[in-house]
Amino acid sequence: MTRLAMRQGATNLAQGFPDFPAPAVLKQAATQAIADDINQYAITWGAKPLRDSVAAKYLRTYGMEFDPEREITVCCGATEGMIASLMAVLDPGDEVVLFEPFYENYGPDTQLCGAEPRYVRLREPDWSFDPDELRRAFTPRTKAIVLNSPNNPTGKVFTRAELESIAALCQEFDALAITDEIYEHILYDGAVHIPIASLDGMRERSILVNSMSKTYSVTGWRVGWVLAPPDLTDSIRKVHDFLTVGAAAPLQQAGAVALGLDEGYYQALSAEYGRRRDHMLTTLESAGFRCFRPAGAYYVMTDISAFGAASDLAFVRYLIDTIGVAAVPGSSFYAQPGGGDRQVRFCFCKKYETLEIARHQLAKIQRA
Ligand code: PLP
Repeated sequence: MTRLAMRQGATNLAQGFPDFPAPAVLKQAATQAIADDINQYAITWGAKPLRDSVAAKYLRTYGMEFDPEREITVCCGATEGMIASLMAVLDPGDEVVLFEPFYENYGPDTQLCGAEPRYVRLREPDWSFDPDELRRAFTPRTKAIVLNSPNNPTGKVFTRAELESIAALCQEFDALAITDEIYEHILYDGAVHIPIASLDGMRERSILVNSMSKTYSVTGWRVGWVLAPPDLTDSIRKVHDFLTVGAAAPLQQAGAVALGLDEGYYQALSAEYGRRRDHMLTTLESAGFRCFRPAGAYYVMTDISAFGAASDLAFVRYLIDTIGVAAVPGSSFYAQPGGGDRQVRFCFCKKYETLEIARHQLAKIQRA
């Protein structure tokens, strides 16, 4: 969709990357690191200052202790963190529980490991799941559940009660929780992010994946990290070493600075995105979309039934070609046929001027 948007000169509300600058302090730290000749391979599992900074941040934010020497692996974004973790723990024939709709990578990641995804539906409008359906998805072959909260594409933030029910199943079936917490600091309306690893009995069976991409608006830097108990970290580090050796060394130095930012930075981030979310919701609702109000992350999932399009894909083509706005067809977040064919996702991690252009363009949509 990004490629199509570029070809057609459309406003890109498809792929989730900001079109505004990264924080100046991070850019300075990165340029300084290059000027200081931090240009060679960092330690494969991550530069010491960054691992120390990650450990200090989790202690400050969640009261959770991670040993930088044995429990933290720096990798090339959450993308590598997720596949390295899955490759480290999955054997062919294992099953992995995935909530659907899901961030596109988890399905292919699971299949690349020769494992089988088992899908559990999150149902609009609040994207809740049926506890019985979740239980039925767990079998003796279940090795892990992948959990993304705050969630892309729905904006759902899993509640403590939901997390506890997932944790109970992980313990009953001896399964791991592999969590993608990349939107942990983008929360609205008082929503609270709880790492499942912080729940009783979950620390030793959780793998927490995160990255700088969204929190610090640097999706192109490709710096992420994986937190896991020492035995799991040992396996993850081996896979990581052979996949990528390591993330860019000077950007890891800047990462150490980023993770040291104070609480005010994260509060401002959520508040700022909250205003953009409201702007986007007003735009979409005025244009005739039914919106599912996100509690976190920076996307709005919408229902396009009112427009009478043949499919989500046909509607997105119309949006790009005729209206001049790119979005993501809902079906790309579903594996099961028919899933998401009345849904389209818009991202709002954009400058106000971009959001204003999109508002004018989307106002031209014809309703059925
Ligand atoms: N996980 C989720 C849920 C995402 O939405 C994205 C990017 O959109 C990623 C992972 C990719 O993360 P990274 O840039 O750290 O590889």
